[in-house]
Amino acid sequence: MTQRTAYEAVLARRAAACGRAGRSVDSVGIVAVSKTFPAAAVRELADCGQRVFGENRVQEGLAKIVEVGPGVSWHLVGHLQANKARDAVGRFALIHSVDTERLAREIDRRAAERGLRQAVLVQANLSREATKSGVGEEGLGPLLETIVALGHVQLRGFMIIPPPAERAEDSRRWFAALRELRDRAAERLGQSLPELSMGMTDDFEVAIEEGATLVRIGRAIFGER
Ligand SMILES: *Cc1c(COP(=O)(O)O)cnc(C)c1O
Repeated sequence: MTQRTAYEAVLARRAAACGRAGRSVDSVGIVAVSKTFPAAAVRELADCGQRVFGENRVQEGLAKIVEVGPGVSWHLVGHLQANKARDAVGRFALIHSVDTERLAREIDRRAAERGLRQAVLVQANLSREATKSGVGEEGLGPLLETIVALGHVQLRGFMIIPPPAERAEDSRRWFAALRELRDRAAERLGQSLPELSMGMTDDFEVAIEEGATLVRIGRAIFGER
């Protein structure tokens, strides 16, 4: 299967899921997760019309950003250590993985230095998996209060990676929970939090049915890693 064929299959799956959910395809952005794949694969996909790419490691992402050049934008979807915030700020249009106050403050400080406002999502961990990154429900209130008070960070919404599941349907409850959490947070903060980053190769259709505005898709587009 060529990359174009794989990409077109993903677009068709998105369209079908949007149809079932009564949503327009424009309301669901695809973040093509290119980790481990070379810049040439990114360019090939850009030629098919894809514009947003995701990386999970800062250094790999930065190298590819330089190699691919202008015309596309980049999201950081993986865990970010506070000591790497400096490298990520301003390079990635959206950081999906803010999960501690320390990281949020560090992003704010580095964004201020660069004279910009960094768009971020808060990564939630609703399943209480000890090993996973993401803020738990108990830490969420204080983290959100901290972020909205920062002048150089713009909170756009939430991201989740549900626990490993055998069937896509098993992820539905986590996607629905994230949407409800977002609705409550937006109400409490009195601001809109439009983005819900949820769904990957194995479960993005279910995520779309539950309100995803960004689906992060790697293998279905680029192939197995
Ligand atoms: C790798 C990765 C993805 C894409 O996963 P696939 O299963 O390849 O679609 C999405 N989100 C994050 C955070 C990732 O690290």
